[in-house]
Amino acid sequence: MSGPKQSTDCNKGGSDIRHKLPIIFVTCAVILTSAYASTYHSVARASDVTLDISFSGSVNDGKAAALTAWLHAVATSMENVYGRFPLPEVRVRVVSDRRGTDGGGSPVPFGRVTRNGGEMVELFVNPDRPIEDFYADWTATHEFSHLLLPRISYKQRWISEGFASYYQNVLMARNGSYTTEQALKKLSEGFARGRASRPELSPNEAAREGVSKARYKIYWSGAAIALLADVELRQRSGGLESLDVVLGRFQECCLPSRRRWSGTELFTQFDSLIDEPVFMPLYRRYADTRGFPEIERTLQLELLRTDVFAVRTNPN
Ligand SMILES: [Zn+2]
Repeated sequence: MSGPKQSTDCNKGGSDIRHKLPIIFVTCAVILTSAYASTYHSVARASDVTLDISFSGSVNDGKAAALTAWLHAVATSMENVYGRFPLPEVRVRVVSDRRGTDGGGSPVPFGRVTRNGGEMVELFVNPDRPIEDFYADWTATHEFSHLLLPRISYKQRWISEGFASYYQNVLMARNGSYTTEQALKKLSEGFARGRASRPELSPNEAAREGVSKARYKIYWSGAAIALLADVELRQRSGGLESLDVVLGRFQECCLPSRRRWSGTELFTQFDSLIDEPVFMPLYRRYADTRGFPEIERTLQLELLRTDVFAVRTNPN
């Protein structure tokens, strides 16, 4: 799920517009098959994920096309992790919901990933908001980042939410939506919220409490552990390895996955993909430890600016 946003009722009717498209880099032909349905065809140059996008609720054709292009851009930006989309195909359900977002706030107040019968990203949007607002918003990037990992046990949901929260900021910086300083500021503010949230709980205890009672602890302790793993991998390898590299190897071996992984199973698998373990040592140090991971010095490192958040102009 997306971060500090409100849950939304998703039982809404209305017209249904379906778009099916592979990731496009150059030009595409557009074939309109009816007033409410269109199909985009193109040849993928690198990544060949198919986005199967459906719209529920009232969205006019012009905004549906603009939102489709936006989703396409978000999916393409995922290549800034390891050069390809994590999955061959994903369904995206866009639900029009104008309640409560007219006066500012996010144009995408709620999002989630479901994995019943294949991954589906659901995004609740206010289609009346200008399209620029969608490009500046992180919710879709957060939800797509969930696809970097398989379904994780709720007992360690700080891993799924934490890695998505880390990558939402990393990817928004790499695609130029955030400056490096904005990305660092957003991460730092998130960590501050996480540190202040339920300090008496460990990440595993916070996961057991649930998102409604320990949201910031769950999201940002996990993001801190993702940051620590990323930096340790980069420092010890002279930049040859990173969290991006490990996730790329994991995608090759293990995605798509139709089962639920425990946190220790996932981290053990990550460690099997590198020479010296990084992930299980972090798990043993922090997963059952109260307080918040030590990230203050890590946040000062120049490699965050020069490597982690650097804009990728050519993701391939
Ligand atoms: Zn999430």
